[in-house]
Amino acid sequence: MRAQRESTTKTVVVVGGGNAGLVAAIAAAEDHCNVRLFEAAPSAERGGNSSFTLGGVRVAFEDPESIFQLLSHVSESEAEMIRRRPYPAASYLADLLTLSQGEADEALCSLLVRWSLPVVKWMKGHGINWGLYMSGFAPEPLWIGSPGNLYAEGGGKGLVAALERRTKSLGVSIEFDHSLEEILLDDTGSVRGITIMQGAEQKRISCDMLVLACGGFEANEQLRRRHLGPAWASMKVRGTRFNTGKGIEAALRIGAQRHGQWDNGHAVPIAFDAPEFGSLALGTTTRRCLFQFGISVDRDGRRFMDEGQNRKTFMYSTTGVAVASQTDGFAYQIFDATFFAANFEKAYYLSGQHYKANTLRDLAASVGIPPDQFLREIEEYNAAIQAGGTFDPNILDGCATVGITPKRSNYATAICEPPFFAFKVVGGITFTYGGLKIDQQCRVLDGADQPIRGLFAAGEVTGGFFAHCYPSNSGLMRGAVTGYLAAKSASRDLKDLVVQS
Ligand SMILES: Cc1cc2nc3c(=O)[nH]c(=O)nc-3n(C[C@H](O)[C@H](O)[C@H](O)COP(=O)(O)OP(=O)(O)OC[C@H]3O[C@@H](n4cnc5c(N)ncnc54)[C@H](O)[C@@H]3O)c2cc1C
Repeated sequence: MRAQRESTTKTVVVVGGGNAGLVAAIAAAEDHCNVRLFEAAPSAERGGNSSFTLGGVRVAFEDPESIFQLLSHVSESEAEMIRRRPYPAASYLADLLTLSQGEADEALCSLLVRWSLPVVKWMKGHGINWGLYMSGFAPEPLWIGSPGNLYAEGGGKGLVAALERRTKSLGVSIEFDHSLEEILLDDTGSVRGITIMQGAEQKRISCDMLVLACGGFEANEQLRRRHLGPAWASMKVRGTRFNTGKGIEAALRIGAQRHGQWDNGHAVPIAFDAPEFGSLALGTTTRRCLFQFGISVDRDGRRFMDEGQNRKTFMYSTTGVAVASQTDGFAYQIFDATFFAANFEKAYYLSGQHYKANTLRDLAASVGIPPDQFLREIEEYNAAIQAGGTFDPNILDGCATVGITPKRSNYATAICEPPFFAFKVVGGITFTYGGLKIDQQCRVLDGADQPIRGLFAAGEVTGGFFAHCYPSNSGLMRGAVTGYLAAKSASRDLKDLVVQS
């Protein structure tokens, strides 16, 4: 689409009011740019997927003291409990590349890793309070400072509220209920504006720099079906209903290049009765990620995945599609009484629909699984567990099975102590991996790998960072790093434009 320039005011427009967009707005506004932020959701549904998170970011650090100094409100007794273990940049990069089976873009992953600590420090300077994650897992209910996870005070909602406060104090107002439709170029191919819908009214907004931070396409069933396939199309959406891929599609229409793994995404098991889209009132409570404390079976009572293939944070994102791929798209997670040793997440489970019985046969009957097959499966599983292991969810504990398929590689304990529980689960998509191609300055590239002048991208809009699997808490970190860098590049280019005009 072509448009004539309408205004001489030099403006950075940011589209999307999640973590990436808010960080970009702050980073541009602190450089005295004139910033406007447009957000498709009404204010009651503000903050995108970022609002649904626990607020965790994965940061690389060599010296644990550099993390300790970022913490707010640590009492002396808590300080004593903190384990201090570095998470070097090389480990973070290796985790990203290994989990992606070598398909992630190494240069982009290096960018994420390199900027993680500086950006987290910068965010602290803008009012984000950081804390550490308490695993809450027996036998070590300790604060854990590795692998590099910090948590924003107040979780995702707290993070978004703090970023919004800062955005506002820098004079940027968020224009809710404004949904990007098209990106407008001038005759030289530079971005000159956008069209946006406010209700039924179409508006044309001029800008000199545009930062797309309007999420992936996980909330768009049609695009999920087209790019990821039928198992993904039938999934529930864990987060915002507004991430429908409009920003990505608008950029593709003006010649942007796709990047990353378009036929895969992040998905986990969630409650069968969870709403179709995420609800801010429920937050993350619908997730069912304690699969390592029990076994997962299909509607016929058969196991279908290695529930202990890796540490939870290194495998959970692949389990949603495993569930969605079963007949009828659902499964059951089965636990015995030892489930009560699990961490805070068990409260999520017990707050939702579940089945409880004193015998496995009764459990199967109440759930509707063929009891004989179910009992045989559990008997075989229990018998296949190698003797001598000690269950420890904090490490790869080596408690494994032998001679059954699928194998259980870690965290295998017998399902034998009543009462027994069953939780019905479906796949819940978190976000998509495919997006736009960006360079080291977060400029969007065209098909010839040339930057589209004036166009930048941040957060879930971008592709290339993740593929196949995902190290937990890298999503907010990717959004913050790319939001920051996109804004700094836009601000620099804006200054060049002012000098030229
Ligand atoms: C339940 C859940 C838990 C998670 N937990 C974590 C966690 O603890 N740590 C972590 O790192 N990651 C987590 N993630 C992933 C994380 O949320 C994302 O990677 C990250 O928030 C993406 O940030 P973003 O700013 O790119 O996108 P979002 O936060 O989704 O923001 C995009 C914004 O763009 C808006 N938008 C969309 N289309 C348009 C349009 N056409 N016009 C205008 N605005 C538009 C949306 O309404 C939204 O507000 C979680 C995700 C979910 C769903």
